[in-house]
Amino acid sequence: MIKAKKSLGQNFLEDRNIIKKIIDTTVIRDETILEIGPGTGNLTEYILKKNPKELFVIEKDNNLTLILEQKFKDKIKIINDDILKVNEKEITKDKLIVFGNLPYNISTEILCKWIINLNNELFWFKSLILMFQKEVADRIISKMNSSHYGRLSVLANWRLRIEKVFDIKPSCFYPKPKVDSSLLIFKPKKSFLKIKDAKNLEKITRVFFNHRRKMIKKPYNFLFDGNQRIQEKLNLDLSLRPQNLNIETYCNLAKEYENL
Ligand code: SAH
Repeated sequence: MIKAKKSLGQNFLEDRNIIKKIIDTTVIRDETILEIGPGTGNLTEYILKKNPKELFVIEKDNNLTLILEQKFKDKIKIINDDILKVNEKEITKDKLIVFGNLPYNISTEILCKWIINLNNELFWFKSLILMFQKEVADRIISKMNSSHYGRLSVLANWRLRIEKVFDIKPSCFYPKPKVDSSLLIFKPKKSFLKIKDAKNLEKITRVFFNHRRKMIKKPYNFLFDGNQRIQEKLNLDLSLRPQNLNIETYCNLAKEYENL
């Protein structure tokens, strides 16, 4: 039995039924697949059984990389690196299907990174099948006016269609995590509101949701220096709370911010 490293968030998915269900969410045959954080290869093995065109994996842990090399030989292409440092666009020219059961904080970080770095370009993936802590997954999929709606929901739903597939209990992993997990599937939206630099949408939502129970008057005045023309143009009621604004309004705010 391999000793799991806490520092790398290693919780290996052992439940075969769940692994099969994850793999069956997507057609793999003849597709180019990227698996991030493959660990000991629990999912990797099942992905291979579905005959992908090519399977790339990115694993940070050197010891696990050796195990993967021995186990799968030349059936997979291993990138022994930190997913946060890899340039995904350099892996292959094919559009990828990405599977990832990564540490939860990393899943959130790469999701934001991928959305923000992309700006208005097309995505380099066809779909992402990623695991999150259930509570974070609920924030990502939540809609306007709900208490979980925030920066993550706006950013993710701006460019991606998101579907929750199922929740996964701690007992499916070894060692058991302390919280429930959820599997989400993301697919690029064909149309979306263009912003020059997605970092501005990130900034607007970060400042607005900083005090989520308070009126948006303060963050608006802070970012727009009390500009009345923009407020009128966007028909913005400054007594609303940040969760009352839809994604379109946040995008319009980001666009106006870029033109200040
Ligand atoms: N997917 C496997 C392992 C899950 S544990 C399974 O379901 O069984 C999370 C895995 O992500 C571990 O193998 C860990 O070493 C790897 N990992 C953690 N941080 C990483 C990072 N920044 N980049 C790439 N891999 C990482």
